[in-house]
Amino acid sequence: MSGSGSLRAGALIDLGALRGNVRALRARASGAAFMAVVKADAYGHGALACARAAVDAGATWVGTATPEEALALRAGGIGPDRARVMCWLWTPGGPFREGIEADLDISVSGLWALREVADAARAAGRPAKVQLKADTGLGRNGCQPADWPELVTEALRAESAGLLRITGLWSHLACADEPGHDSIDAQLTLFRELVAYAEERGARPDVRHIANSPATLTRPDAHFDLVRPGIAMYGISPSPECGTPADFGLRPVMTLTASLALVKHVPGGHGVSYGHRYVTPGDTTLGLIPLGYGDGIPRHASGTGPVLVGGKWRTVAGRIAMDQFVVDLGGDEPPVGADAVLFGPGDRGEPTAEDWAQAAGTIAYEIVTRIGSRVPRVYVDEGAPTDVGAPGAKGSGR
Ligand SMILES: *Cc1c(COP(=O)(O)O)cnc(C)c1O
Repeated sequence: MSGSGSLRAGALIDLGALRGNVRALRARASGAAFMAVVKADAYGHGALACARAAVDAGATWVGTATPEEALALRAGGIGPDRARVMCWLWTPGGPFREGIEADLDISVSGLWALREVADAARAAGRPAKVQLKADTGLGRNGCQPADWPELVTEALRAESAGLLRITGLWSHLACADEPGHDSIDAQLTLFRELVAYAEERGARPDVRHIANSPATLTRPDAHFDLVRPGIAMYGISPSPECGTPADFGLRPVMTLTASLALVKHVPGGHGVSYGHRYVTPGDTTLGLIPLGYGDGIPRHASGTGPVLVGGKWRTVAGRIAMDQFVVDLGGDEPPVGADAVLFGPGDRGEPTAEDWAQAAGTIAYEIVTRIGSRVPRVYVDEGAPTDVGAPGAKGSGR
């Protein structure tokens, strides 16, 4: 197991695995363009490094939630010559003009946003790229079907006035991670109807898209012109029901390791960590792991989270604190400084992010995304092309 060297802890990010995942997903959706979703700092993996690696592996689009995330990618060198960049979570007064000037594709779900985009385009002196988002059943962002005719009509009017171009028609699925869920077919049917409505009235989008990771993996009829995988690109299955990463030729990208900070003998009956929720059952050894909820380790995994130390799975003993937690080593004496692997690809005996999700009662998305900024990302990049400005082998990012 390659550890994090002399670091307290590190999140090793295997960019070669990420590129392999992009290729595997592209092969599954070969008729569609690929948008690498790198919101929330690429689910905790580092947005710029992951966006670059995904583009190197054939992604022609990069997607974020907020305009600030998208603008940071442009500022970091993901120029319009390298990829289209789209973002979808706008609020009134947002940086619409900056977005237009940075050549972002701007998602619009309602009339207020259409007005702000048009005003910003007038001020910028160039048309905006606008993607109209429909709520086909998720019940979150997106335009309700009843309001779609008005949004489409107004967008076409602004397009005729030279203020914008309708570059996309799109939506998002609610239950694609539960294969066979009735809502998937219903959403796809409604999506086709709303696309047809806009196109019959003159919309000529570059792309129509609705597929997240689970739909990319399990629903070819949802691929349309473009797929938008996030979690699968990081080598994690959207849900156990969808299958394992290996079923799809995916490899987890993040390995979270720490350096054992203390190993000590304690007698039986010794309370461990705040609240004494664990009491040693007999003479034993305890290992101190220098990571806690301040690093994004879920406190809900107190008493349940698995860690590979000295070749064996250990379990979090007692409560996870802000900066540290303890594992019962059962009398073993691994050296101080030994690797403690919380999760990784899983093929070298270590737990996976999915194991931590189950231990904490959440989803693996949350496990990787919440790993905090106090944990350095260490980029491992074997087999990187050398001439494309990828982060150097084993260079520390962020
Ligand atoms: C997060 C997100 C995705 C990616 O979802 P995954 O389940 O991680 O593949 C795609 N589209 C939108 C709109 C999103 O918010």
